[in-house]
Parts: sequence; C-alpha cells; structure tokens
Amino acid sequence: LTVLPLRYAPDPVLRTKTARIRDIDSRMQKLIDDMIETMHANQGVGLAACQVGVPWRLAVIQLPEEEFVHVLINPDIVRRENEREVEEGCLSIPGYRGSLKRSERVKVRALDRNGKVVRIKADGLLAQALEHETDHLDGTLYTDRLASSDDLFKIEPQDIEEANDMLADDLDQRREANNDIDG
Ligand code: ZN
Repeated sequence: LTVLPLRYAPDPVLRTKTARIRDIDSRMQKLIDDMIETMHANQGVGLAACQVGVPWRLAVIQLPEEEFVHVLINPDIVRRENEREVEEGCLSIPGYRGSLKRSERVKVRALDRNGKVVRIKADGLLAQALEHETDHLDGTLYTDRLASSDDLFKIEPQDIEEANDMLADDLDQRREANNDIDG
C-alpha cells in the first residue's frame, strides 16, 4: 500500500470534472487501496481521487470510529433534503475551515468496488461527507459554497493538534455535534 501525495488548491486537477469509470480493473483496486491508506495517513473522513491527482469519479469515506469504508465509484447524489449550517475543512485546503450550508439528508447512488450498485440514505456527518466528496468529483471545493469570505477561518497548528486530541478523547461528542469533517 502506498500513501499518495495530496494535491492542494489551486492545483487545476481539483477543478476538473472527473471522468466516469468504466472498468473496475486491478489498477482501480490498487488505487482504491492506496486512497484508503492515504485517507488514514492524513486522518481524513473522506478522499476523492482528484485529491491524489487522478481525475476519475471515485471517492472513499470512513466515519470516525467506524470500521466500514464506503468506496464510491461514479457516485451521484439523487436527492437532497433540507439545509443546515455546518463547519468543514478539506485535506486539499490545509489550515482553514469554513462555515457553510449542507443538506440534512441525501440519497446517493454509486457502485462499490465490486461494481455492485449501492444506494445510500444518509444524514449527519455521512451526508456531509457524501456532498463534500461528490463536490470534489465535480471540480467544486467547499470554499465555493461559502456565503462570504468571513465564513472562512484560518486555524492555527495548535488548534489542529487540539482538535486531534479532542477527536481521540471524545469521538462520541464529535459524533453528536455531527458537523465537523475534513475530506
Ligand atoms: Zn475535500
């Protein structure tokens, strides 16, 4: 397994409309495994292929404290319900977080790594991560969704450490708050 180098804004690959995947071959399986490894190494909740420089419609998501990794090939959001204010960050925009509106609930259709159709109904953090990663695959960053530049906050390195400590100490609380992701 390989931890792949991340691409950071304003890398143009993050602005690419990614290509739908036709063949889920061994090269794709290797990419999926390396993306999961890369997401873990960076303590992310999700990662889109374009964030490692690959312009394909593929993302992985793993919620804190959950074993299951969602592998999403050609994901599409087929339904969104209601809005809520959330805070989020992005591995491709280090040092910042933003406050923006996301859907309360989403329905997503995708293929899993075996090419089987999966339909996911999600709320909370999973819904937020699904929107964040699907946005990546359309060349959209969360910063595009900020109502104003006042909604973007710079975070200091010690805040990141504190945030990580908090994450380790009290994942339940973080889950309850349900509004905190880096993907
Ligand atoms: Zn992101």
